[in-house]
Amino acid sequence: MECFDRAEFLSREELATVQLARLRNVVSQAMRSPFYGARLREAGVSPDSLRSLDDLRRIPCTTKDDLRSQYPDGLNTLPVSEMVRMHASSGTTGSPTVIHYTQNDINLWADLMARSMHMVGVRREDVFQNITGYGLFTGGLGLHYGAERLGCLTIPAGPGNTARQLKFMRDFRTTVAHIIPSYALYFGAALRDSGQDPKDLALRIALIGAEPHTEETRGRIEELLDVKAYNSYGLSEMNGPGVAFECLQQAGMHIWEDAYIAEIVDPETLEPVAEGEVGELVMTTLCRQGMPILRYRTKDLTRFIPGPCACGRVHRRMDRILGRADDMLIIKGVNIYPMQIEQVLMGFPEVGENYQIEMEQENFIDQIRVKVELKEEFFVEDMRVLRDLQKRITGKLRDEVLITPRIDLVQHNSLPKAEGKAQRVVDNRPKG
Ligand code: AMP
Ligand code: ZN
Repeated sequence: MECFDRAEFLSREELATVQLARLRNVVSQAMRSPFYGARLREAGVSPDSLRSLDDLRRIPCTTKDDLRSQYPDGLNTLPVSEMVRMHASSGTTGSPTVIHYTQNDINLWADLMARSMHMVGVRREDVFQNITGYGLFTGGLGLHYGAERLGCLTIPAGPGNTARQLKFMRDFRTTVAHIIPSYALYFGAALRDSGQDPKDLALRIALIGAEPHTEETRGRIEELLDVKAYNSYGLSEMNGPGVAFECLQQAGMHIWEDAYIAEIVDPETLEPVAEGEVGELVMTTLCRQGMPILRYRTKDLTRFIPGPCACGRVHRRMDRILGRADDMLIIKGVNIYPMQIEQVLMGFPEVGENYQIEMEQENFIDQIRVKVELKEEFFVEDMRVLRDLQKRITGKLRDEVLITPRIDLVQHNSLPKAEGKAQRVVDNRPKG
């Protein structure tokens, strides 16, 4: 099988050897930062004391609050003259989490991105339209560098302006697009609404990621745009995208274990969960020089997919993100993940591309209201038809999440649209 670099097809034994050697290196590098210098000494961890990969667990976890407390550069291991780039995570409250990169860090990240894109069939003949935000968000420049590294003609289109995106797509015969799933749904619907047939475009691959989405959503994107859509996972703390990526099998995302160590732990005890169980993903950078991060608690919930992948790669696969440890909604004592709601909604052919979950309070009791856009052709005047649909959606949701949400069926294009990551949950409960 064609591969981008040898690390893509290492054996498990080779991977383990590479990981241990790189772990020792990265720990020694991390100790040059004020933060890890103190923290690792306190925990009694030195590079030589790491004798096997199991010793990773002697390193204390790093949290988002740790990163915030070190703003702006307490995790840097090298002077600013060695750094060539910074990015920040999309968090909206408090100090942003800032990541610094050396030239070598950028090069390795571009290689991982190129490897990921190559894995799903992107080649130098392709025309790549990058429909995500640039700027501090890592998704834009991350895939941009990967595509250029593969030799694709790269169009840094940025997000929004659907008509112009479509014009570029037609005029430059775009074959591969990088697009956030919520925008891909909107974009696909807009394309159909304008009476165009995606079969007239050259587009064949959509790289979708940066926000949680379900298998049903992927199916819709593939149908609306007449493409194969591949899930792309990453976070700024681990460079950005290119951490884990689906292969042609579309059966989970391979984690690039030569560059990262992934663990899945119980968020309460921090003990590893049993193979195949859901838990919080904890990640360690193995190759980053400028700002290594060890055992970072991502708050993303997922599981390792057991067993080998039909593609032949042994890099472990993780399931799509099932939710965030911190965006779980607790309503009447029931834990609900927004993705469960999306999964049910997207199963209804009448339901359009956008929805919003609102948390509200009535008589001091928490409730959820789900506003659901209907497809244009299904938004009829006949109240009986709408009521029947409302009842069916309510029933299915109750079966899934065990409480009864209120459902508002709203017109196509009436809910707010995000240009970046979609804001699916709005909390309207009284504060305090
Ligand atoms: P940021 O660092 O701002 O780019 O945000 C990273 C976060 O985006 C991750 O921790 C995930 O919660 C989310 N994310 C990124 N890629 C995906 C994906 N493919 N599926 C679900 N969530 C994702
Ligand atoms: Zn595979």
